Amino acid sequence: MDRHSDTVFIDGEWVRARGSARYDIVSASTEETIATAPVGSAEDVDAAVAAARRAFDDPSGWANWEPARRAAALERFAEVLDERGPEIARLVTGQNGMPITISSVSEAVIPGTLLRYYATLLRETPTETERPSATGGTTVVRQVPIGVIAAIVPWNFPQTLTFYKLAPALAAGNTVVVKPAPETTLDAFVVADAATAAGIPPGVLNIVSGGPDTGAALVEHPGVDKVAFTGSTRAGRGIAETCGRLLRPVTLELGGKSATIILDDVDLATEVGKMFTCTLVNSGQTCMLGTRILAPRSRYAEVVDAFAGLVGMLPVGDPFDPGVILGPLVSERQRDRVEAYIAKGRDEARLVAGGTRPAGLDKGWFVAPTVFADVDNDAVIAREEIFGPVLAVIPYDGDDDAVRIANDSAYGLGGSVWSADAERARAVATRVRTGTVGVNFYQIDHHSPFGGVKDSGLGRELGPEALTSYRHTQSVYLG
Ligand code: NAD
Repeated sequence: MDRHSDTVFIDGEWVRARGSARYDIVSASTEETIATAPVGSAEDVDAAVAAARRAFDDPSGWANWEPARRAAALERFAEVLDERGPEIARLVTGQNGMPITISSVSEAVIPGTLLRYYATLLRETPTETERPSATGGTTVVRQVPIGVIAAIVPWNFPQTLTFYKLAPALAAGNTVVVKPAPETTLDAFVVADAATAAGIPPGVLNIVSGGPDTGAALVEHPGVDKVAFTGSTRAGRGIAETCGRLLRPVTLELGGKSATIILDDVDLATEVGKMFTCTLVNSGQTCMLGTRILAPRSRYAEVVDAFAGLVGMLPVGDPFDPGVILGPLVSERQRDRVEAYIAKGRDEARLVAGGTRPAGLDKGWFVAPTVFADVDNDAVIAREEIFGPVLAVIPYDGDDDAVRIANDSAYGLGGSVWSADAERARAVATRVRTGTVGVNFYQIDHHSPFGGVKDSGLGRELGPEALTSYRHTQSVYLG
């Protein structure tokens, strides 16, 4: 068992958790318990928030450091995390089953990249500007940190999604309490050690492990000034209700059911391989994936064949094998959920690929990548987020119909449009009502805002906009 099985990270130290409850961290690919961690109690949350509050209120502390000094600290933090990147990638893969080829280029790298990006923005962006006031004098508009941030993250890209919050929140001068997902806790503990090694002052970053109850205690805590949440729409809605009652700012990055729109002039043979990253990556456990494939009726059979061919070529197996493209699902519960949707899909549509557990993999929560054809956009498998490797190919008639179907969803997170004519694809893309959309490509751009509309969430992460979202403005009227 690991050294953190009894401790949480509060005020710069590993302290014994107040409660006695523990949970197991289980490998998605071997089904073995690899560690245990404490279920953070209300007392642990209380202690973490108190430490964050003290650090925030310290007149010579983090919030009041010159921006350049905070930027330098973030860059040291980035360096330590970069050094520990390969270890972080192995820990993530060992827990959630993400292929090592993905964790090595996301979880190992993005934390450092984002810290450096926000450190640079911090140096470049003034936090005070003066303007002539309506009364004839001068007003100073100050950008000030909000206070104590509660950051709650899921298991699918645990480090990436932690640093979508942590990097801008810390850069702006806030202090933070992170609650990692129970499925991926060990990588979060490395972040705590890295913060200490980089000289991030005690209390600026606190990490309390646990599940929904720990998260709920944090969201409701009177000492928290803003909540940043990534996870399911169901949990996000509850958190929004609590934050509404408390008038507490909240950012919500929630689920999705995006559309991959294939226009009738597309060169399928060249493009379909590129569509993997925006339809199936991480075994479909990625929020922005376009799992509704909208295919022109004139080329419907060709699109179905192309996706059936694509999934047939994807190596599924041990996520530590560098040749593997699809690993297992994160947990038995998640596999049960995905298999229930596949069973529903068999009633609602025509199964053309997958639909079973892959042969020869006795351990691990694997599901073969699956394609359904003849799917109606009103079918359950077209409306609900499955969060597994399951695609629904939906026919459409003309570009307007494609846009109509793409927008006929409770969600609005991502999506992409594919065409031999980039201008035509772009014109269609701008009619899609989602927070982000790709043209012949989809990759999240860390320099630009990311987030959703409708049931996909509130607010934006990334880009300079995220720094703004972790600040209040204060107008000082000079007499
Ligand atoms: P989840 O909502 O069950 O859990 C997410 C996190 O919130 C975990 O840390 C969990 O312990 C905590 N939590 C759960 N209920 C809570 C509550 N009531 N109060 C406070 N904290 C609570 O989601 P999950 O199954 O772990 O993650 C998958 C979901 O996350 C999918 O729906 C996916 O689309 C979404 N997601 C969204 C994005 C995005 O950026 N929009 C990114 C990744 C995942």
